[in-house]
Amino acid sequence: MPCPQTPPNFSWSEIDTILLDMDGTLLDKYFDDHFWEEYVPQIFARTHKLSPKDAKTALMERYRKVESTLQWCDLDYWSEQLGLNIPQMKCDIDHLIKIHPYVITFLEYVKSINKHVCLVTNAHPKTLNIKMHKTGIAHHFDSIVCAEEIGCAKEQPEFWQKLEDHLQYDKQRTLLADDTAKVLHSANQYGMGFLVFVARPSSKNGVVFSPDYPSITYFNELIH
Ligand SMILES: [Mg+2]
Repeated sequence: MPCPQTPPNFSWSEIDTILLDMDGTLLDKYFDDHFWEEYVPQIFARTHKLSPKDAKTALMERYRKVESTLQWCDLDYWSEQLGLNIPQMKCDIDHLIKIHPYVITFLEYVKSINKHVCLVTNAHPKTLNIKMHKTGIAHHFDSIVCAEEIGCAKEQPEFWQKLEDHLQYDKQRTLLADDTAKVLHSANQYGMGFLVFVARPSSKNGVVFSPDYPSITYFNELIH
């Protein structure tokens, strides 16, 4: 049974700081899914003379081992592990990097009501650069933080205290939007004031609302 939507229910007057995830939340996760699940296996198979099926099975196994860790996002780690130039390969298909609908309107809206807006991502600085260059959205943020600077992934509860020390926000007056349930769980454990789940991270998949957190499909639902 699909879970029904619990829409977010807050007033912007309760919030000073907005923390936004990048992949799947602001940007279409189709790029990342396609890159790791199709493009990398295809090039890996060709480079190492494997069948496409064997290449995919071997890679999926390796991905799973480092899931939810910073290593998963480390492009240099993967370049070395797989014998491929991962940053260059991302640039090769950067036409698939897309901003989700209503994101720009939302970013302009929250600026107009004087909120402090931060991009907080597990993505590697090289991935961040490729995506900021392609989308041109960097100027909308007061700060941009890569998990690498904090020293752990957003899925780890200690991440949030370290981020607070770094950015100096009042957690009870802060909203986090993310498309990964594990990230919302760790932020919830830490005591983040407001949590919003993004229910359609990839344009190629359907909407799946969270059973645990208020959900949105697109950011126009937060313009009020
Ligand atoms: Mg994400």
